[in-house]
Amino acid sequence: MDLEFDRKHLWHPYTCATSPDNSYPVVSAKGSVITLSPDIKLVDGMASWWSAIHGYSHPILVKAVQKQAANLSHIMFGGLTHEPAIELGKKLLEILPKSFQHIFYADSGSVAVEVAMKTALQFQRNNANLKRNKFLTIKRGYHGDTVGAMSVCDPISGMHALFSGYVLPQIFVSAPPLGFDTEITDEDFAEISGIAEAKQDEIAAVILEPIVQGAGGMRIYSPQYLKKIRDLCDKFDFVLIFDEIATGFGRTGKMFAFEHANILPDIICVGKALTGGMLTLSAMITSAKIAEIACKNGLPLMHGPTFMANPLACAAAKANLDLLTSWNWKDKILSIEKTLKDKLSPLKNNPKVADVRVIGAIGVVEMKEKINVAQFQVDCISRGAWIRPFGKIAYIMPPYIISQKELEKLVAALIFAVR
Ligand SMILES: *Cc1c(COP(=O)(O)O)cnc(C)c1O
Repeated sequence: MDLEFDRKHLWHPYTCATSPDNSYPVVSAKGSVITLSPDIKLVDGMASWWSAIHGYSHPILVKAVQKQAANLSHIMFGGLTHEPAIELGKKLLEILPKSFQHIFYADSGSVAVEVAMKTALQFQRNNANLKRNKFLTIKRGYHGDTVGAMSVCDPISGMHALFSGYVLPQIFVSAPPLGFDTEITDEDFAEISGIAEAKQDEIAAVILEPIVQGAGGMRIYSPQYLKKIRDLCDKFDFVLIFDEIATGFGRTGKMFAFEHANILPDIICVGKALTGGMLTLSAMITSAKIAEIACKNGLPLMHGPTFMANPLACAAAKANLDLLTSWNWKDKILSIEKTLKDKLSPLKNNPKVADVRVIGAIGVVEMKEKINVAQFQVDCISRGAWIRPFGKIAYIMPPYIISQKELEKLVAALIFAVR
C-alpha cells in the first residue's frame, strides 16, 4: 500500500492535511476482526463509528449488495421509484411506532438532520408561525458537520467553534445531568422551560440525541428528561426532532433510544447502522401530522440529494434490518452490557479515571486528562484491539455479533491502555 501517498494527499477525518496523524492500513475485515496484515489482526471496538452492527463482510449483506448491483445499482429518485426503496420503507415503518408515516431518504446523517430542520421550519411556516426560525437544543450535542447540523452542535466544546461567525446562532441550554437513573427535578428543567417560555415565538423545534449524546462526550442521561421535553414541545407547539443516527437500531438495548422514555418524537433521523456499515444511507422519518401540515396545499419539500434512495444502499439496509430482526439481538446486547459493566466499573477506582458509563453495547471510560490518541492506539493494537478515543473519552461499541472472548480481549486492551 502506498502509505506515502496517503500521508501526502489524503485528508482523514478531523485531521490536518499537512501534518497528518498516523493512519493504519487495513487490508480486510470479517466478522469482528480487522486485518492490518497477516500477523496483525484486531478485534473491532468501534463498529466503524456505530455502523457495522453485524460485523464486516456478513455473507447475507454481501449477497444482497451483489445481487442488487447486478440489477440496478443506481437510478434517480425524481419521477422514478424501485423495489429496494419500497421494501426498506415498509421495514422501517414495521419497526417504528405507527405514528411514523413519511420517509425521506438521504445519503448521510448530516443531510438527514438538514432535511429534518427544513421540514420543521416548513411545518411552522404552514402553521402560520412565520417567525419561528430557531432551534432549541442542549449543550454537548453532536448532529453532523453540514452547516445547519453544525449550528445545533455544542457551540464551545463541539468541533465547530472556529466557524461560529458563519454558523447561525441557535438556542442552547445546559445538557441534562449524567445518569440513566438520575431523577430529573424541576430545578434541572427550570432553565430550559424558562427559555422555551420566553422564546416560544422564535423556536421552531427542539432537536437532541435521545438517551446518549455521542460525539459530544458520550453522555448517558435519563429518559425522564425526554418525557419532560415532550411535554414542553406539546405546550408550545415545537416540533420534536430526535437524532437517532448513533443510537438507532439496537445500540442502547432498545430498537430506538426513545423507547426507553415511552414517548414519541415528531421526527426522527436515522443513519449509521442503517445499512450495517455496507454503504452510506440515512433517512428522516416524520409523523403523519408533521408531513400533513408541512406539505399543506401541495407545498413540496425542496430537497433532493442526487443519490437519494440509492438502490444498492436501500438493498443493503433492507437485508441488514431483516437480519437484525431475525435473531435475539436484545439478549445479546444485554449480555454485552453486563460484561462491559462488570469489567469496566472497577476502573472507577483508578485515580486517572473520571467516570465509567455503560448502556447497551456502549462502554465509556472518561479520563480526567486528555488522552494521547497515538499512544493509546499503539497500546490497544499491541493487545489486539481497535479502539479510537477522542478528547478525554475512551469508549467501545463493538459489532453486536462479537463473541464473549473477543469482547473480553477488547475490554482488557482498553484497561491496559488507560492503566
Ligand atoms: C454521526 C452522526 C451524525 C452525522 O452523520 P454523518 O453520516 O456523519 O453525516 C449526526 N448525528 C449524530 C447523532 C451522529 O452520531
